[in-house]
Amino acid sequence: MRATLFGTGYVGLVTGTCLAEVGHDIVCVDVDAGKIAKLNDGVIPIYEPGLQPMVQANHAAGRLRFTTDAAEGISHGEIVFIAVGTPPDGDGDADLRYVVEVARTIGAHITRPTVVVNKSTVPVGTADRVRAVIADELQKRGVDVAFDVVSNPEFLKEGDAVNDCMRPDRIIVGSDSPTAVERLKRLYGPFNRNHERILVMDVRSAELTKYAANAMLATKISFMNEIANVAECVGADVEMVRQGIGSDPRIGWHFIYPGAGYGGSCFPKDVRALSRTAFKCEYRTELLDAVEAVNERQKSHLFELIVRHYGDVEALRGKTFAVWGLAFKPNTDDMREASSRRLLEQLWRAGARVRAFDPEARETTEAIYRDREDFVLCEHANEALEGADALAVVTEWKQFRSPDFSRLRGTLADAAIFDGRNLYHPAEVEAAGIAYYGIGRGRSL
Ligand code: NAD
Repeated sequence: MRATLFGTGYVGLVTGTCLAEVGHDIVCVDVDAGKIAKLNDGVIPIYEPGLQPMVQANHAAGRLRFTTDAAEGISHGEIVFIAVGTPPDGDGDADLRYVVEVARTIGAHITRPTVVVNKSTVPVGTADRVRAVIADELQKRGVDVAFDVVSNPEFLKEGDAVNDCMRPDRIIVGSDSPTAVERLKRLYGPFNRNHERILVMDVRSAELTKYAANAMLATKISFMNEIANVAECVGADVEMVRQGIGSDPRIGWHFIYPGAGYGGSCFPKDVRALSRTAFKCEYRTELLDAVEAVNERQKSHLFELIVRHYGDVEALRGKTFAVWGLAFKPNTDDMREASSRRLLEQLWRAGARVRAFDPEARETTEAIYRDREDFVLCEHANEALEGADALAVVTEWKQFRSPDFSRLRGTLADAAIFDGRNLYHPAEVEAAGIAYYGIGRGRSL
């Protein structure tokens, strides 16, 4: 089938590539000419495991094309996806300006029946708005073209996006049009072969499902961080508690890891946007507001542990901290709302210097923090340790899991590790003569 995607970010590029991989004929449109030029040269503007060879192979085979020409994209696709960003606006609402802009462009160019599919995460009611914008444009042109607007929220995870897209847990199709549903079932057929993964529902339920999923996951994280903080107060080890509760299948092992708070481009903005949607219906989402408040506090926790170790904030002046991990989670280069940013900024405010290393987030970090005298972005984990007084681990990349602690003891002048993801065993670190601080590990405090 011929499909067009507007937006070549994490969602649009991965989805377009996976659709091309299974044989569809795909055009990806973006307003960012630099991104499109790179993609046409076979350069992938984001880090996503497994994506590069798939983009290159499908591009070479002619099934995956990139353009800034919206009209060309719209004339190509019988199905047109909207996969542009929906960042938070000043009030915490989803900013729909990019979605509306694409809807306007679609309305300005469609000439034959088209299924418009909204893949961006958008508040309930947005499909109606997209429909109205397209209808308005058609009216301005004085033409009558049939179109459907479908909600098809995306559930891929950065860092494992290709796999999620090729083997989705579920594909949600929100639509009341049998023709549109049928077309999407055909498009997604190759991902739906062994058992039924396509769930058809009304548009509003589909839109809400995406927010409910992210809010549930964020709730699990904040819940566990709350328990971790209690564990710290009462002298318990949250890692033992985690194992104690995760073994209950009703609770399960996923998303119960305590840490330095959740970040990224989705959880923070989606929890806030859902709360704002409810607020507009005069409903207060007390649980979600607490999830967000706990997370905000948790992002400062690693810094609080550092201050606790050194006695007061003043003692940090002139210290140098090695920071391992900057991306909001492993296997991505995404720095949006990353917990590392809070820590870096708190350390700098306290007069400390930072030597940081992340396997993939170097460029995205440089784009945020340029030319700072108190910041060195290093090429290797060990380089970040040179001249450092202590180490803070913020992102749980696999390569940080088994450091040589006796070597660290010789390198870190103040012999202290602040483990924001509970990667290490306190006893092992302490046996090497290093002070250990984890999240919710009251036992070692
Ligand atoms: P992104 O910021 O990585 O990419 C968005 C792209 O859209 C950019 O390349 C931008 O240039 C382009 N764009 C903006 N206006 C455009 C226009 N008028 N025409 C064409 N292109 C345009 O965003 P993302 O992370 O891919 O997220 C996209 C949507 O999917 C968001 O609503 C997000 O909440 C949702 N989502 C994201 C993830 C994720 O893990 N990143 C997962 C599920 C859902």
